[in-house]
Amino acid sequence: MEARKAANRKLAGHFSEDEFACRCCGMVIVHSRLVEKLENLR
Ligand SMILES: [Zn+2]
Repeated sequence: MEARKAANRKLAGHFSEDEFACRCCGMVIVHSRLVEKLENLR
């Protein structure tokens, strides 16, 4: 799990950090396992 400022760059495949950024503070909360699952869905 990562928590850092959104850098507006690609995380994995089709997802950018912006899509995971908190709406209020812009912190990115990403579970790498979640990203893998999302990739499988797309
Ligand atoms: Zn926030």
